[in-house]
Amino acid sequence: MPSQEQLNDWFNKKKKRKQSLSAKLLFPALKNGNRLALSSAITLVESSTIQDRREADKLIKNCLTLKKKSWRIGITGVPGVGKSSFIEAFGKIILEKGLKLAVLAIDPSSSYSGGSILGDKTRMSWLAQQENVFIRPTATGNNLGGVASNTREAILICEAAGFDIIFVETVGVGQSETVVHSMVDFFLLLMLSGAGDELQGIKRGIMEMADVILITKADGDNLQNSKNARSQYANALHLFPPKKSEWISKALISSSVSGDGLTELWNTIQSYFNKISVNGWLEENRRNQEISLFKENLSHLITQDFFGNERWKMKFNELEIKVAKGKISAFLAANQLFIEYLEANRT
Ligand code: GDP
Repeated sequence: MPSQEQLNDWFNKKKKRKQSLSAKLLFPALKNGNRLALSSAITLVESSTIQDRREADKLIKNCLTLKKKSWRIGITGVPGVGKSSFIEAFGKIILEKGLKLAVLAIDPSSSYSGGSILGDKTRMSWLAQQENVFIRPTATGNNLGGVASNTREAILICEAAGFDIIFVETVGVGQSETVVHSMVDFFLLLMLSGAGDELQGIKRGIMEMADVILITKADGDNLQNSKNARSQYANALHLFPPKKSEWISKALISSSVSGDGLTELWNTIQSYFNKISVNGWLEENRRNQEISLFKENLSHLITQDFFGNERWKMKFNELEIKVAKGKISAFLAANQLFIEYLEANRT
């Protein structure tokens, strides 16, 4: 086993030469919790070159053999709700318990050229410096689907590196909450208490996914407002159908400034995981998530194969015009083209 210094040196040289990294080298270092190996492994699964993908597949296969389990926690809320302040304050509690925390942030508003909400380096500045913390923002541009797969793999990599708690954070805009929900065990929705219409802004479907709705900034003049909001959300949660996890969603309040409410949240999360470990939902949900991902990936690959081929793309475009003009029904056009595609693949 090479020393940490040797590994760092080796990774840096590889990075400089833009050489691809091998699973054989990364995996033992990753298992040892080497941070460079961890970030290089995530870069590897994000890469789209064929060579890197091959190594990434080997690495993930290795990670799966470890069967390490973490608590995967999704966190969402609109910009300004207090996500980074919350993660910093709550992260401190997690670290005090001697646990290791990884924060994977999905930012659908950003592209690799900048303009990100979550990728800002000044966020969580204290947490970012702690030894038992790993923070990784992922800019999605407009490829949320691809990022979903990468983040799923990043979770497995963090687990292999020994992280106990994994936050998958996203901004409450667009589709990303659903994507995050599909890869975590517990879903936390941060909300602001507003004067008047408490339920404004966040879609019903997102609230329905929440295991806990946490009203942030419950301090100072805002404390009473927050308590009122908690009652309103608690009532709203009662109206949703029961969850398959048998968990009854809760509304809580917290302040990242005073720290009030954070221990109660930790205890609530703990009872949630106790419950779903005992009733089998933790395993069942993860299995369901894997199967959905398998289906999604397969249908993505088939679509890619179809539209990546000029012949089929042209045929699709021809039929598209006919469908638009009402000359053929959408159903018939799809059937016709699919049969042609099947027959061509048989020969
Ligand atoms: P994010 O955009 O969701 O990550 O939100 P931030 O964590 O950056 O917080 C947005 C603003 O709210 C900042 O000015 C914070 O200082 C403030 N803030 C966050 N949490 C609290 C809190 O618990 N109490 C108070 N009073 N202000 C807070």
